[in-house]
Amino acid sequence: MFPLENHDPIKEVFLRYSRIVFVGCSRTEGKPSHDIPRLMKEHGFEVACVNPHAESILGSPTFGDILEVPEEFLEILVVFRPPEEVPRLVDKILKSGKVPRVFWMQEGIRSPYAREKLEPLGVFVVEDRCIWKAYASLFVERDEVYERILRFARVYARAKGFVLNPDPQKLDEVIAALAFNEKTYGFRYCPCRVITGDFEEDKKKICPCYWHEEEIREMGHCRCGLFWDPKRVRAPGGIRTRDLPLTRRALRRAELPGPV
Ligand code: SF4
Repeated sequence: MFPLENHDPIKEVFLRYSRIVFVGCSRTEGKPSHDIPRLMKEHGFEVACVNPHAESILGSPTFGDILEVPEEFLEILVVFRPPEEVPRLVDKILKSGKVPRVFWMQEGIRSPYAREKLEPLGVFVVEDRCIWKAYASLFVERDEVYERILRFARVYARAKGFVLNPDPQKLDEVIAALAFNEKTYGFRYCPCRVITGDFEEDKKKICPCYWHEEEIREMGHCRCGLFWDPKRVRAPGGIRTRDLPLTRRALRRAELPGPV
């Protein structure tokens, strides 16, 4: 599933996917099965809930059964059900043919059956691990600026009908460069354009930049490849999502203008 070597596969899960279905999501505040979906939603993920006894949880799409969840939502499926219910859930998924990319079992939940059935289909299976703790330790606690920019990019892309660069390594590179610029200059200047020191001019280069919509229309992606037209991402023969420039990062530090 993950073509990249020497890369943390859990980090790749969070960079590659932004939709999470919580099976066993609770209506009750204070329960992990309510608060963890809420936290993931607050951090920019698109969340759907499965609970046969609730019409709406967290203001998110809520379904009575996993079979009702639209296929495009099945990126990360998080299980908040007792371990003995997992095989039945796996069988249901297999029968429906709607298989998630990631099958994530929360703390205390293990299932060799899920591994045995889903891994041969290319599903990334995680057992006995809290998705929020994994996300927070990798992103929120490690680099607050990076995480905030990633969250902003996810929410912005969704609101505009774009998608983020599907290559987790490239996405990581662009977000890290934006975070570097914000820490250095106080603004998330585009990593692919040289700032001049004239703030009025440089305002155009703060992400999302002045040109991004036009570029997405014309090329299918903005210049450094953070935002893509979903229809162009998989276009055969199109530019590889990793082959885009990070011009400014390539400049020597001494050539950069000082803080604006
Ligand atoms: S080119 Fe893309 S990443 Fe760079 S500032 Fe514009 S929108 Fe942001």
